[in-house]
Amino acid sequence: MKLNRWGYSGKIYLLATHFLKGKVNIGRCSVCDRNTFFILNGNYDRDNYECLRCGSMPRQRMLMLSLNKFIPNWKTKVIHETSPGSSSSYYIAKNCSLYTSSQYFLNVQPGDIYHGTRCENLEKLTFGKQTFDIFISQEVMEHVFHPDLALAEITRVLKIGGYHVFTTPYRNWTKTVQRAKLDLKGEVVHLESPEYHGNPVGNGKSLVTFDWGYNFLEYVKKYSKMDVQIYSIIDENLGLRGELLEVFVCRKLK
Ligand SMILES: [Zn+2]
Repeated sequence: MKLNRWGYSGKIYLLATHFLKGKVNIGRCSVCDRNTFFILNGNYDRDNYECLRCGSMPRQRMLMLSLNKFIPNWKTKVIHETSPGSSSSYYIAKNCSLYTSSQYFLNVQPGDIYHGTRCENLEKLTFGKQTFDIFISQEVMEHVFHPDLALAEITRVLKIGGYHVFTTPYRNWTKTVQRAKLDLKGEVVHLESPEYHGNPVGNGKSLVTFDWGYNFLEYVKKYSKMDVQIYSIIDENLGLRGELLEVFVCRKLK
């Protein structure tokens, strides 16, 4: 969790140095819901164009904006998030009394609580059908070995009319590439050179299993059987700039 990682004096220092470099703009952050300064604290907009108040990244602000737009009463809904760990997860949890979350832990029985957190395998959830109004996943779908099963499971646990709102790197100009799979013994087989993203649990890194390309939209529709919209805007007043900011807003209609 990146909240307040800079401290007050650190924020003043960051603001001053980035202001001198012209890497600051004023705007409204949809994660912490406050007026703020957005700073480019690195070279890559997607990861480094941060809200000085809450440390959020553009894709997290895009997710909150999508929730506010498509489900304006989300604070009153039954929400479950898989693998939370960002400032957006923190603010959703803080503002929704019916929010729960889970993580996948190796060697822990799904449904059990491990160090205060429920263990769930996204490909085989232990929740009953039609349990949640909203299911959230942020940067998870590129790490799942069987995303077809995960999408079907999320649909199963959603109520009719419910939403799966998620982010994942989606390059609609290129083909989908499967980077890794499991063999019959459950061992990882690398089909491409291994690539990892940060992970809030476990050993801190998560293997990328798929680079999603242009057929991903059809893939999501096929296995989730939901109505799918992709939402993305660029607006520096909202701290939205950079690549791969698409939010998938899927609705279970029947
Ligand atoms: Zn913020």
